[in-house]
Amino acid sequence: MEQVRTHVMCIGNELLSGKTVNTNLSYLGQELEKIGLPIVGSTVTSDEEEELNLNLSFAFDTSDIIITTGGLGPTADDITKKCVADYLHKELQFNDEIWENIVARFARRGMVAPDTNRTQAYVPKDFTILKNKLGTAPGLYYDLGDKVVVLLPGVPYEMKGLFEDIVKDLLKERFNRNSVVSRSVHTIGVSESKLAEIIADIVTPNGISLAFLPQPGRVTLRLTGTDVERIEEIISEFKRRLSDSIWGEDDETLPLIIHRLLSEHKLSLAVAESCTGGLVQEKLVSIPGASNYLKGGIVSYSDEAKREQLGVRASTLEKYGAVSKEAAKEMAEGVLKKFNADIGVSVTGIAGPDGGTEEKPVGTVWFGVSINERLFADEKETEEGTRTHTETRFLIGSRYTIRESSAHVLLNLLRIQLKNIGIL
Ligand code: ATP
Ligand code: MG
Repeated sequence: MEQVRTHVMCIGNELLSGKTVNTNLSYLGQELEKIGLPIVGSTVTSDEEEELNLNLSFAFDTSDIIITTGGLGPTADDITKKCVADYLHKELQFNDEIWENIVARFARRGMVAPDTNRTQAYVPKDFTILKNKLGTAPGLYYDLGDKVVVLLPGVPYEMKGLFEDIVKDLLKERFNRNSVVSRSVHTIGVSESKLAEIIADIVTPNGISLAFLPQPGRVTLRLTGTDVERIEEIISEFKRRLSDSIWGEDDETLPLIIHRLLSEHKLSLAVAESCTGGLVQEKLVSIPGASNYLKGGIVSYSDEAKREQLGVRASTLEKYGAVSKEAAKEMAEGVLKKFNADIGVSVTGIAGPDGGTEEKPVGTVWFGVSINERLFADEKETEEGTRTHTETRFLIGSRYTIRESSAHVLLNLLRIQLKNIGIL
């Protein structure tokens, strides 16, 4: 596959001052990689003409695709179009259709389009207009023959809309990326460096790119290229070597997998959370239809709440502590009973930065998955009427990372337990 250099320029003082997080870059980075046109360089530029020109000149000198975001609006600091037009010696021409669209957009809200918006109707000669359904500033596209330039608005949802609806296909066709496929496997519990070691001898031929995409506690391995057969072979090899650590593929997420399994099998869930403070439930509830299976949960942050809300014994807390196998077990069983659910899960740990001891350092987390006995095929009965599996992990990172990782570890343990009882 021909190597194409993609450069993204994000324009705006607010990006440089840190007031706005550059989410446009992270979105474009992911999307362009998926279609085999990964970003090789990016600049963040102020709204000053001189700075913009310097960076434009660099981008045009070094790249085959130049994408800008921001500075297409009607205000004085929106100078992207003018700078690009000047750079390419293109005159700006007034476009009646764009102006009519702007007028109509304002009229729908009972307003008259201000004259300042007229600047948005000017287009550099020969540029293709990319209709923006979500805002007033259209995107612009121009093919110089040996390279292309794409101007997109700064507002993230407008930029995404244009990229998704028009720009993606335009670039795929222009750079012959129609047959590019992207396949991923998602792993948990193995560090990036360990993963690299495990798959080091697997050869990814020219034209297939391998990306390691880390998130707290998890790493995704993504292959992109045109050789579908070879990509599938490598994916199979990843699965063979990493089977225990792989929890999903492609667009799957752990909350989605749990959502699907529990909904399909009509099983109910209750959640007891300590160090995650509701994060596990937040992840589940953000998927529409969570009420199909989620009965509820308790954020039992204090010992008192663990005792009073979940029935964890005072003697357990005294003898083993709140971050222990025993506490995790009683929390999972307690929440299952409290909500009369089929399954109860629990997480209790030390998220830091303080609170660690030599025996239980920051990052020590215990997990419990308690399942109602009726879901097991064998007839064995226990006193509690449930069977509970507990596990521990020593997670590393910041408080945020440990809490994020914990939530995912718990969902993955639940997934594995469901698999063990034949649900998967
Ligand atoms: P507008 O018509 O709103 O002026 P524009 O194309 O001129 O659109 P900007 O003025 O640069 O875009 O930015 C509009 C909004 O989008 C601002 O709130 C800005 O913070 C946000 N924004 C711009 N660039 C980015 C970016 N790279 N990442 C995230 N948000 C951004
Ligand atoms: Mg603007």
